[in-house]
Amino acid sequence: MTPACPLCGGGRCVPFELSTDPVSGRSYAFVRCGGCGGEFADPMENPGPEWYAKAAFYNEDACRSGAAARLRGGVFLELGLAKDARLLDVGCGAGEFLALAAGAGYSRCSGIDFSPAQVRLARENSGLEDISVASLEEFLPGRDGSFDLVSAFEVLEHQPAPADFVKRLKGLLAPGGLLMLSVPNAARPLLFGGREAWDYPPHHLTRWDAGRLDRFLAGLGLEKVVLKDSELPAEHVYNQLFGVKLDAAVKGAIAAVKRLLFGGKAAASMDEIVASGAAGAAGVLRFRLARRLPAAALKLFFRALLLPVYLPLWLSYSAAGHRGTSLVAVYRVK
Ligand SMILES: [Zn+2]
Repeated sequence: MTPACPLCGGGRCVPFELSTDPVSGRSYAFVRCGGCGGEFADPMENPGPEWYAKAAFYNEDACRSGAAARLRGGVFLELGLAKDARLLDVGCGAGEFLALAAGAGYSRCSGIDFSPAQVRLARENSGLEDISVASLEEFLPGRDGSFDLVSAFEVLEHQPAPADFVKRLKGLLAPGGLLMLSVPNAARPLLFGGREAWDYPPHHLTRWDAGRLDRFLAGLGLEKVVLKDSELPAEHVYNQLFGVKLDAAVKGAIAAVKRLLFGGKAAASMDEIVASGAAGAAGVLRFRLARRLPAAALKLFFRALLLPVYLPLWLSYSAAGHRGTSLVAVYRVK
C-alpha cells in the first residue's frame, strides 16, 4: 500500500525508485504523487541524530555549494528589506547567511540550530548574540507573528512533515512577512542517471523542482515573490562525471585508514570513537589529517587532469540553458 501524499494529502502515489541506505542498511522507496506531482520517501522518517553522526562521515563535504550561497545572498539583498527588519534563520548552521545579513547592516537577526557546535560557530562568524540552540518546536511558543523574514536553507528536504514545517514557519511571520527557502534543484542535470549519495533517503525525504515547489507553497496559501535557480557550477558536471566513482574509491581508502588506526572500533562513527576516549586526541587528529590531505590532493590532481573533458561539457550544458543545482524561493504571507 502506498502512503498518502505528505505534500497535498492526496492518494494515487506510485513508487518509482528503490534504494538502500548504506549507513543503516534499510530500504526506501521514492514515491510520486499523481495529484500534485510531489516526490517523497517511503517511509517518511527523519533518521535521528545518531544516523547523522554516522552519515556525516560520508556526507561532510557534499552539501556545501558556493553557487547556492551566492544565489541566496543575491536574492536576499535584492529584496531590499528595511534595515530594521526582524530576521530569523531556522537551521542557521555556521551562520553564513546571518553573517551576510549582519554585514549588510541588518541588526535584528536571530538564528536557531539544534547543534551547539554550529551555534557557537554561527555566533563567532556573524558577531550576533541572538543565536540559540533550539528545535523549531522549542522556539515557537510566544513568537507568533514576530518576524518580517523567516529563512530555512536546505532544511525543507529533510522534513518528515513538510507541510506542517512550512505552516509553523508561516506562523512566525508578521502579516505580509516573507518566507525564504532553498532546496537542491531536482532538475539539475544528472549525467548517466547519477544521483549524488546525499540525495537519497533518509538524508533527503523530498525532491523539488521549481514547479513542485511553487505548487506546494501556493497550496499553503503563500504568494510568489521570487523563485529562481542557481547557475550550473562546473564542479557539478565534474562531480557527476567522475566524482561518484572517485568518492567511492576515497571512501574505501578512508575505511582502511580507520581500521588501521582504531582496529575493532572502526565500525563506530567518529563521534562514538571520540566519546569512548579510545582513540585519544592524537589518534583523532591523526585520522582527520590522514583523511583530509590525500583526499584534497587527489581531488585537485584529478580536477586539473580532467579539465579538458568536463569544461566543454559544462559550457554546452550552460549554453543549452540547463538548470542549476540549487533553488531559492521567497514567498509572501497573504
Ligand atoms: Zn501530492
